Amino acid sequence: MSLSTTIIPRDEHNISRSMIDENCLKVLYRLRRNGFKAYLVGGSVRDLLLGRQPKDFDVGTDATPEQVRKLFRNCRLVGRRFRLAHIMFGRNNLIEVATFRRKPRTEELDAADNERFFAENLFGTPQQDAFRRDFTINALFYDINNFSIIDHVGGLTDLKNGVIRVIGDPDERFNEDPVRMLRALEFSARLGFSLHDDIPAAIERNAASLIGAAPARMREEIMELFRHKVAGKVLQKAEHLHLAEFIIPGYAPQRANFDLLRQLDIRTASGVKVTEPFALAVLYLPQFCARCHNDMNIGEVHKLATSQLSGHCRYFSIASGIRHQARELFIAFFRLRRGRGRRGEQRFLRHPAAAEGLELYRLWCAATGSDKELLESWQLAMNDREAPPSTAPTRKRRPRRRRRRRQPPQNVAKE
Ligand code: ATP
Ligand code: MG
Repeated sequence: MSLSTTIIPRDEHNISRSMIDENCLKVLYRLRRNGFKAYLVGGSVRDLLLGRQPKDFDVGTDATPEQVRKLFRNCRLVGRRFRLAHIMFGRNNLIEVATFRRKPRTEELDAADNERFFAENLFGTPQQDAFRRDFTINALFYDINNFSIIDHVGGLTDLKNGVIRVIGDPDERFNEDPVRMLRALEFSARLGFSLHDDIPAAIERNAASLIGAAPARMREEIMELFRHKVAGKVLQKAEHLHLAEFIIPGYAPQRANFDLLRQLDIRTASGVKVTEPFALAVLYLPQFCARCHNDMNIGEVHKLATSQLSGHCRYFSIASGIRHQARELFIAFFRLRRGRGRRGEQRFLRHPAAAEGLELYRLWCAATGSDKELLESWQLAMNDREAPPSTAPTRKRRPRRRRRRRQPPQNVAKE
């Protein structure tokens, strides 16, 4: 890894200000006007250099969170683990501003005596900030002062060669934050980059430490895989590296799971949003199918669906409403797969879970290559389903009479 800093001037790279969100530019300019360093950092620089649309634009600065707050009226300080400033523009646009951080030295950690979040909130220089990031391609800076790109870690070469490389020693960095192992697989799949040679072995060595990651954070990272349509690829690679069982404890995915997950990723890539209940149902459908028989009654199917989902939902503290929706998808899937012509078919087709259940069944048919005719037949039935019985009152309601204002008491005795 190059330890010297490379600065690429404006005329030697493709990032122009017109590619940057205008609110983000406002933030960068105001910080600069007030004498602070102001960089575009992280994923946005990476994505702009790759010609992709960044998901969000993050700012790095040497202003402290308090100083940032004083500069912007529309600013909130957030985060317990990692203090940062959120600058709000309207409801949906938010620019995240983080003060440059550094990693603590060992003796500082000892002295901090387990003070919570101490390690995440030590401010440092831009260079130190680059080195505490996860991968070289995620540590590039765009400087608003002269529109140059600053590369402290050799990220530009890795970006050109399509390589995910850990900054520093992979064992050390994975041990420090095991979630980075999953992120390495995620970025590799999202960008079509290869993992640097030292990553797979380091993942195998450190896989078990992922079990210590906070379930809430893992739940979010898992949903990121679905949103970025790489759940199939990443979980398959994770299985290969013996990491999958530590991403989702107790999960033993097989070929059928990966095929189905890949079908879901294709569907998401086509523009259909993926919800958590649907993702859950896809994760566990093959396991559910293996235990489900056409002669089971709905009560038994309900029980089976609950048992398939309960471990996952308990571990990740998933609300019962979400589990309920995933279970409804399983039950709808069961009704669809066992065939047509049952009593109550019309009522089932009008059930809120039926249309999504059909989507799940469609993915399953595509993944397994089976049941094409039955799927088509259900699709036609779904298109032609009867309208629900009208619940509108048959008799026209008489308009409500206005309440008469109560008269003030007439004979109030005067005192
Ligand atoms: P995207 O938002 O497109 O998923 P990103 O690179 O912006 O990708 P974020 O999760 O938003 O990813 O994180 C922003 C930046 O923070 C990263 O680019 C990286 O530099 C740094 N970062 C995030 N997570 C870690 C981590 N676990 N360890 C070290 N640095 C991290
Ligand atoms: Mg981001």
